Amino acid sequence: MPEKLTENNPWQTALTQLDTVSGLMMLPEDIHHVLRNFDRILSVSIPVHMDNGSLGVFHGFRVQHNASRGPYKGGVRYHPGLTLDDLKALAMEMTWKCSLVGVPFGGAKGGIICDPKKLSKGELERLTRRYTCAIMPIIGIEKDIPAPDVNTNEQIMAWIMDSYSFNNGYYTPGIVTGKPLNIGGSLGRKDATGLGVANIVENTVESMEMDLKGLAVVIQGYGNVGSAVGKFLSERGCRIIAVSSSRGGIYNPKGLDHASIMKYYQEKGSFEHFSEAENITNASLLELPCDVLIPAALGNQITKENAGRIKAKVVVEGANGPTTPEADHLLNERKIPVVPDILANAGGVVVSYFEWVQDVQCFFWPEKEINTRLKNLLDRAYEEVFRLSEEKGYNLRTAAMVLAVKKVADAISVRGVYP
Ligand code: NAD
Repeated sequence: MPEKLTENNPWQTALTQLDTVSGLMMLPEDIHHVLRNFDRILSVSIPVHMDNGSLGVFHGFRVQHNASRGPYKGGVRYHPGLTLDDLKALAMEMTWKCSLVGVPFGGAKGGIICDPKKLSKGELERLTRRYTCAIMPIIGIEKDIPAPDVNTNEQIMAWIMDSYSFNNGYYTPGIVTGKPLNIGGSLGRKDATGLGVANIVENTVESMEMDLKGLAVVIQGYGNVGSAVGKFLSERGCRIIAVSSSRGGIYNPKGLDHASIMKYYQEKGSFEHFSEAENITNASLLELPCDVLIPAALGNQITKENAGRIKAKVVVEGANGPTTPEADHLLNERKIPVVPDILANAGGVVVSYFEWVQDVQCFFWPEKEINTRLKNLLDRAYEEVFRLSEEKGYNLRTAAMVLAVKKVADAISVRGVYP
């Protein structure tokens, strides 16, 4: 599928970020070349019996970027606008994220071009099961472990696990993470990404000598990640002043009550007509005056067009790739720090790693232990990134990328090239 690289092309963004730090680190040319490429890209077509008797044919992918530090790991996204370039960028980003926080995985991502809102539950199940079989030759407990991402959830992970187990001949919970608890899921996994983002907000606020109590927070997207961030930050005394979904958002400078907005969103599927708040567009939400702006929806939300109008004191990237390199540059010039996705939203992959470890050992840990281990890993990663950024004068993204790329490059270098 040839795709034109444009300013907001996520793959171009991922390459630009890699090229920038490769130059700074004086990464050997051959290793840089390996990292700009992929280990494997599988493109599959997925025939599905639709409820109306027709046969639908969908397209899906699994992209594996690099496995020098461990098996591939990455989510599965269902979206009508999904492109191969999105997945290439997200897979590469997974390599950096796992490396940065020290979990022994490489990077992958997969997905299907589909609009799950237009599919019945039966169609969604058949689509998921057939996709699992199509990518089965390249996934496995020690090969590549999928997980949830946009528009995929515990139920979809359960179908992947069941389809894989059936074809594998035995119960194989470790094939996927983000599963329901009763089939090998982990306590704490559902909210792990959001909890991780909240922990990183806390670290950031402390470094910037701001007060967590009363902190004005804006969250774009109120799905798995955004709603959990809203919950944890509300519990810690922050004021969530604006939230949104794909159909627009709501704003109340005095603060929104997390429980009420969550109940409303779950019942109505959007924030439209929510009383006690002003309706706003997603574009204006990003430009609201606030302490912390948390994009937690899709990529490419902060661009060169709106970066000059961002009024947050700091941006913490809950979503993957929400800021383009041009916007990053503008925010940097305006002295608005951006805590990068590979650090800010790494909580999900950290607890996915814990889930995988528990599945492999058939030994399950209490939630308190999981959350403590998560906090320790993220605190350490934040500290390393912050220290390097202070020492070298790098922005936080560059510091995080330098640390992450170095560990992957070292692994490639010591393993050598086979044969
Ligand atoms: P989700 O599908 O549960 O929620 C996405 C939310 O964003 C929904 O509220 C949706 O209405 C909203 N949205 C969609 N399009 C939008 C738009 N154009 N403008 C504003 N809002 C929009 O997805 P999620 O799992 O919460 O993932 C959100 C982001 O976080 C993605 O970038 C994903 O890659 C990233 N992420 C997710 C995880 C995880 O564990 N789920 C881990 C790391 C990173």
